[in-house]
Amino acid sequence: MLAIRAARLFDGLAIVSDPTVYVEGGTVVDVTSTPPPSGVPVLDLGAATLLPGLVDAHTHLVFDSGPDPVSRLRTVDDEELLRGARVAATRALHAGITTVRDLGDRGYVARRLRAELDAAPHTGPLVLSAGPPLTSPRGHCWWLGGEVSGADEIRAAVADHAARGVDVIKVLATGGEITPGTKPYLPQFTPAELAVAAEEAHRHGLPAAAHAHSAAAIAAAVDAGFDTIEHGSFLTEAGAAADEAVIAQLAASDSIVSATLGYLPGQPVNPRTAAISATLTAIFTQQRRAGVRMIVTSDAGIDPSKPHDVLPYAAEMFLLFGDEPAAALRAVTADAAAACGVGSAKGRVAAGYDADLLAVAGDPTTDITALRTVEAVFRAGVRVV
Ligand SMILES: [Zn+2]
Repeated sequence: MLAIRAARLFDGLAIVSDPTVYVEGGTVVDVTSTPPPSGVPVLDLGAATLLPGLVDAHTHLVFDSGPDPVSRLRTVDDEELLRGARVAATRALHAGITTVRDLGDRGYVARRLRAELDAAPHTGPLVLSAGPPLTSPRGHCWWLGGEVSGADEIRAAVADHAARGVDVIKVLATGGEITPGTKPYLPQFTPAELAVAAEEAHRHGLPAAAHAHSAAAIAAAVDAGFDTIEHGSFLTEAGAAADEAVIAQLAASDSIVSATLGYLPGQPVNPRTAAISATLTAIFTQQRRAGVRMIVTSDAGIDPSKPHDVLPYAAEMFLLFGDEPAAALRAVTADAAAACGVGSAKGRVAAGYDADLLAVAGDPTTDITALRTVEAVFRAGVRVV
């Protein structure tokens, strides 16, 4: 047993002063506000703040966050992708991101990585994964291998993904920026096809995640019962524009918007995104004011501004939407874990939860940038930083 002391704890939901967190094996066994009894080994982190390890619910471990991740991916084999995914996962872990959800790989590379890491959990984050995302023929990310056409192929693909051990079914409901010939504001599936995909995912006991940029696709994905709406950006042909009726529908639903945020300073940002960034901020602000449930994710890997440890910057951006730091912390811990279906083991520091912990210098509950000053990281009870 180890007792960890710090100035404060954000336990995933609330702030606790002068905490002692008891860790045994890979599990948190108790959290108290009283000093530990003599005889128990103590790690005193002084003025640091303890938090749950962060959860990034939207990453791509097979994208190398280089200048052209897609071209690179298409010229290397799966073994090379697996090597890159190992590097990406290690980078995330060292920033305190102890759970990642990969929302699109090729050849189930992220699933293979998880199998490796499960044998030695302290060597990487928990890797949840979707496998190749379901897309229309020659649709967004078709080169990842998930092309399907019609309800029967969707059913078969969901069954195949489930049999291979994925943790979530990802569907590309609209096109995307990085696939020539597709448009983020255009649909790739009919509402009926989306409904089949979500229903089949749930029948296999898996959450369903819809990549949806346009208002129409967001509305269809909410109607279909998708658990998370990835991006939720309300893109149009001309830029982006909020749709009040769809925002009201989102707010009244159980669907959670996974806002893919965060850019590493000093790196070039996608010019189309940069041009509409003020509009996007207004749209996400409008969603929060309407009561839309939102988690903060990164889409790490897709360009040089999004390395696999960019999530703390995403949490900072969340404050632009009118939220307090504690809400941002919750959106990258407890709420993100719950959205991934691992909320009973991850995203909290409480008795019975996995001992995946992050300690940062300073107080991120008042200054969110403190998330970037990592003092210690524990994964499965083992200190890795
Ligand atoms: Zn993505």
